[in-house]
Amino acid sequence: MGAGSIDPERARASLLAERERLMAELGEPIENPGQMTYGSQAAAASQVFEQQRDLALRDRSRIDLSRVEAALRALDDGTYGTCTSCGKPIAPERLEAIPWVPMCIDCARKAGR
Ligand SMILES: [Zn+2]
Repeated sequence: MGAGSIDPERARASLLAERERLMAELGEPIENPGQMTYGSQAAAASQVFEQQRDLALRDRSRIDLSRVEAALRALDDGTYGTCTSCGKPIAPERLEAIPWVPMCIDCARKAGR
């Protein structure tokens, strides 16, 4: 592999490892708020807070997981490394840093991140 090109097998390995990590994270059971018995108002409030924080983290993980899965599909389709917004190739250094990044740097900047 020459400089500046993407090694799809390496990308796949990183993606699969990340998918496993995210799935393990998301696989932890979350308690249903409706089935909780609260000892006190204060305990109830802190439990709700913790649950919301937990849910926010899960949302992030879920978004990451969907990006990882989209990147794996793109690898299979042979479109891996193509910006989902403008269709131009994503810089290999960018993919090396974050193998599941969906957009090129220009589009990511425009999207505000
Ligand atoms: Zn783009």
